[in-house]
Amino acid sequence: MNNFIKKEICTALDCVGCGVCVSVCPQRCISMEENKEGFLYPVIDIEKCINCGLCEKKCPQNMAHNTETSKFYMAWHKNREILMKSSSGGVFSALANWILDRDGIIVGATFNSKTREVSHELINEYRQLDELRLSKYYQSKTEHIFPLVREQIKQGKLVLFTGTACQIAALNSFLGKLDIKNLITLDVLCHGVASKKVVEEYIKSKEKEYGKKIIDFRFRVKEGKEGWEAGSGTRMKLFFTDGTSVTQDKYTDTYFVGFNSNIFLRESCYNCKYCGQERIADFTAADFWGVTNKRVSKQQLYDGVSVLLVNTDKAKKILPDLSSTLNVVDIDPMEAIPYNRAFERPNSRPEERASFFELLEKKGFDGAVKQLNSRYYRNITIKKILKKILPNGVYKNLINKG
Ligand SMILES: Cc1cc2nc3c(=O)[nH]c(=O)nc-3n(C[C@H](O)[C@H](O)[C@H](O)COP(=O)(O)OP(=O)(O)OC[C@H]3O[C@@H](n4cnc5c(N)ncnc54)[C@H](O)[C@@H]3O)c2cc1C
Ligand code: SF4
Ligand code: SF4
Ligand code: SF4
Repeated sequence: MNNFIKKEICTALDCVGCGVCVSVCPQRCISMEENKEGFLYPVIDIEKCINCGLCEKKCPQNMAHNTETSKFYMAWHKNREILMKSSSGGVFSALANWILDRDGIIVGATFNSKTREVSHELINEYRQLDELRLSKYYQSKTEHIFPLVREQIKQGKLVLFTGTACQIAALNSFLGKLDIKNLITLDVLCHGVASKKVVEEYIKSKEKEYGKKIIDFRFRVKEGKEGWEAGSGTRMKLFFTDGTSVTQDKYTDTYFVGFNSNIFLRESCYNCKYCGQERIADFTAADFWGVTNKRVSKQQLYDGVSVLLVNTDKAKKILPDLSSTLNVVDIDPMEAIPYNRAFERPNSRPEERASFFELLEKKGFDGAVKQLNSRYYRNITIKKILKKILPNGVYKNLINKG
């Protein structure tokens, strides 16, 4: 007999998959299991459950969270080598360095290229920072991490916990008290997350397209003519077993077309409680997509710039210390907000989301994304044909009018 049932700890549409419920259950009768979309949800072994209610009480989605009003800056790392290894301006690295200089611990999302698992892990060495750098645009597993973080805090270690805002909320509700002196939090402004299954299906499609096996991949690269500028850093780079690699075109790559059209995000992301300018972490980092060459040099646009939000008194005190590794300049919030939807509200759930996962089974990843974004792909094809047949000036005029 199967005793595992899907009792709701919070509503399924709200569950962010953090696994706090797993960590707090005194009976150890909750496990995280993948649903058919590949997202993790808690499942309770009802025979062992003693109905203590702790899982519901500690679930971050069942409680309100304190937020703080932020001060907006733009920031970029002074060391170009580190900057080029970071998603935007290397804010994470500057803060992580500050913690490691004080013998602290860093917690963040690591990627295992063999298992393709993204999971939160603890590190305490500078050379391990590469494992945490770069955005992985699918959900990081966290259910194991909260007790380990509590242990480090209890031992008096300085801890930097990084992740999406729902993961910061999860940590706060697990720890149960706010303003812990030796805990600093940084959230990465978040558009939403995909599941591991979605990424595996994307990789399968690309292996079919290129006729060879993929050994590794990155969601962010600063290379080519554009580097980071105007969204060009968010491109998929695929590494093959034969030692070759390819960087996908940012306009047509099915992963980012699907991700940016929001057709395979976790259900909770369409109703995210953590969007907006009032934040729950000490610091928030984002891409400064609104920056132009009136504000920074052309080189800087190539290399990358972050938006840095300083949200709490604790963060305000640390900020001056970061100036040894980070350039930090005041900005008007309106220079950043209009270019980053998560500063205002969550992404809407498109009608097409309902059919994506069915189509995925029938047509594979590329087929499903292309069918649900057929108008977008048609327009791109038309533009490519016009570019080929029209003189450059005429083409540019036409595109700018359209
Ligand atoms: C899922 C996701 C969605 C995002 N959406 C947006 C967006 O809509 N707009 C925007 O401006 N920025 C977004 N970002 C943030 C942005 O990509 C950069 O992470 C941010 O600008 C910090 O830059 P950095 O140069 O300091 O980065 P890096 O040094 O590359 O930052 C690495 C940090 O990201 C964390 N991280 C990486 N992957 C994950 C993951 N899967 N889950 C949790 N934490 C992770 C690591 O723990 C580490 O703290 C998103 C990031 C993620 C992970
Ligand atoms: S009610 Fe208590 S025992 Fe039952 S699953 Fe939740 S935490 Fe575990
Ligand atoms: S604690 Fe986290 S994983 Fe558990 S039900 Fe709540 S949101 Fe979902
Ligand atoms: S959009 Fe919100 S709910 Fe979804 S992963 Fe990001 S912070 Fe969490």
